[in-house]
Amino acid sequence: MAGITARGLSTVYPGGVRAVDELDLEVTDGELFALLGPSGCGKTTLLRTIAGLESASEGTVSIGSRDVTRLPPGDRRVAMVFQDYALFPHMTVAENIAYPLKVRGAARSVRDETAARTAAGLSLDGLLERRPGQLSGGQQQRAALARAVAASAEVLLLDEPLSNLDARLRLEARTFLKKLQRELALTTVFVTHDQAEALALADRIAVMDAGRIRQIGTPREVFQRPADTFVANFIGSTPMNLVPRDAEIIGVRPEYLAPAPSGLFTGTVSIVENLGVTSLVTLDCGVGYVVPEDDEPAVGTTVTVDAPPARVLRYDRETGLLVR
Ligand code: ADP
Ligand code: MG
Repeated sequence: MAGITARGLSTVYPGGVRAVDELDLEVTDGELFALLGPSGCGKTTLLRTIAGLESASEGTVSIGSRDVTRLPPGDRRVAMVFQDYALFPHMTVAENIAYPLKVRGAARSVRDETAARTAAGLSLDGLLERRPGQLSGGQQQRAALARAVAASAEVLLLDEPLSNLDARLRLEARTFLKKLQRELALTTVFVTHDQAEALALADRIAVMDAGRIRQIGTPREVFQRPADTFVANFIGSTPMNLVPRDAEIIGVRPEYLAPAPSGLFTGTVSIVENLGVTSLVTLDCGVGYVVPEDDEPAVGTTVTVDAPPARVLRYDRETGLLVR
């Protein structure tokens, strides 16, 4: 078992794009770690650099106590599942899962046994003799995951592993992935652009922007105390209210605001959006707050809202950084 450490890591593509830019990162042994950020921020490049599929331009990558910066991918003891989870189309599911073991020269009996056990863990037992073309998208994704797990690597790298699944299957696969990771206690880094997925799954999250890390923290930390306005905007199913006041910006999540006799913001209700068991109410001053179902005010009503002091954040207007 092994953690991952990156120090001053940069990956520059030919032509000069600094996809990963002097980045420091520490993933602890057995952790389920999310790389979260908008499209193009460098998540895939960072994952590929850890795997050795891209070479670092500057800095180092270590896995456990080994500096792997100059090692070829095959010697790093990592398994990676790509966004398009390329399974070998001419092989059965069992052969696909056992392929990494075959490459390493494992005996047939060992391969069969490992394939059967891993497939059972991923509810693929009935499908071992099928070819990828005969599987649904979700089943293909699970087969790719099984192949990575069967490779018995020290580190599992997953690039948007759930992105090709429809909404319901995605929730199922998410729960399953978390359970599997717990059972295997395998150091796992997964990439996602979906903040809800990162919050739901990860032990810790690194929020990335333009090749750099803006904040690393537990889901609770990045939700409750975003380190800057970029993270504040990116995390949360409803955007954080960021309201300029003097030299600062007041930041408060819609979920933490509630009507009060006096308080932070006053305005007229302009929009009410149904979110299921709650509704998002937007005031004409631009501030949004969340109310339980059946508590929605009428459009045009004047409302004052307030939040507990601990939930009111202040950001520097110039730098966007959290004022501590
Ligand atoms: P993400 O996975 O977060 O969407 P990527 O790591 O794929 O981001 O890309 C990061 C940046 O590197 C982007 O600006 C992208 O255009 C660029 N990039 C990605 N792959 C290559 C490549 N093979 N050659 C040159 N530029 C690339
Ligand atoms: Mg990507």
